[in-house]
Amino acid sequence: EFRAIVVDRTESVEGKKTQGAALRMVSDDFLMPGDVTIAVEYSSINFKDGLALMGRPGVVRAWPMIAGIDLVGTVEQSTDPRWSAGDRVILNGAGLSETHHGGLAERARVSGDFLVRLPEGISAVRAAAVGTAGFTAMLSVLGLERGGITPESGAVLVTGAAGGVGSLAVALLAARGYRVHASTGRVDELGDYLRGLGAVELVDRGTLSEAGKPLQGQRWAGAIDSVGSSTLANVLAQTNYGGVVTSCGLAQGADLPATVMPFILRAVSLIGINSVEAPLAQREEAWRHLATDLDLTLLDSLTEVIPLEAAFDAAAGILAGTVHGRTVVDVRR
Ligand code: NAP
Repeated sequence: EFRAIVVDRTESVEGKKTQGAALRMVSDDFLMPGDVTIAVEYSSINFKDGLALMGRPGVVRAWPMIAGIDLVGTVEQSTDPRWSAGDRVILNGAGLSETHHGGLAERARVSGDFLVRLPEGISAVRAAAVGTAGFTAMLSVLGLERGGITPESGAVLVTGAAGGVGSLAVALLAARGYRVHASTGRVDELGDYLRGLGAVELVDRGTLSEAGKPLQGQRWAGAIDSVGSSTLANVLAQTNYGGVVTSCGLAQGADLPATVMPFILRAVSLIGINSVEAPLAQREEAWRHLATDLDLTLLDSLTEVIPLEAAFDAAAGILAGTVHGRTVVDVRR
């Protein structure tokens, strides 16, 4: 038997469904089919983990489900010829905690198809600190660059900057030589933190969150947005001619109250980012960059490591907007 955080759903006699998560002991036959069995070492708390652990809808799609959209660990057994016992592996998204048991447990059994080998030079705990948030930030940076943005293009804005995706995006862009502007609701509280990650200018998120004009003054060559809604609409309206904006999140909302004006009058591009279903080649490319581009001391400074049972408090904190940076869960503690 091993410990796992399991999300389950109960239905009352009136048909009302409620979802809740609990730390439980489960046995190997609880695991779903898969070619590779992994002794999990670390998972992490992303926004989606906050939703799943707090019983909110939208992430878990089958019950009971082990939570945790990330895992880092060591292969115990494999019938997949690409993997063998002792291999250190990373898995981000790929249905974990949605349709397949996730990483907030001491053991996982998964398909070998989306595993990435832990790169040389990055420890398991740091790979978990990167997690889906950092992987998504890297996919976003690569998206901007595929769109033609370089550090010479001009300043790049990161929204939701103190969050997981945002913090890693600021650090990654700064490491690549970009002038990073960071939008946050916590300028006073976390301004020093964001400057420490490499931001050269702070933007109060309140100046971006209300409905604005279709075209506004041009401020940024590019942007990485994890906020959506009116914020993304304003970011598009303030992006330079030929600029590129990536969209990966909906911290403010899933709506996009924008017009086509930035696209047709300023040739702005909007690029969607989905880490969950990213193909293996993209995963490997992103992790290759993450292992070399990221300042690991800086990564440590934005990371908190907690034991498995503390995942619930961390989940409540990420939904309440009281945590910043990244929270790693040591599932063996
Ligand atoms: P997180 O750590 O909670 O970060 C979200 C940040 O957004 C917060 O720290 C806050 O930053 C800002 N924010 C929160 N509520 C806001 C509001 N009402 N208006 C404006 N800003 C707000 O979460 P995360 O794990 O980084 O994820 C961020 C978003 O990206 C989520 O929507 C998540 O589902 C999505 N995501 C998508 C993918 C993908 O593959 N597409 C992957 C990872 C994450 P400040 O305190 O600095 O203002």
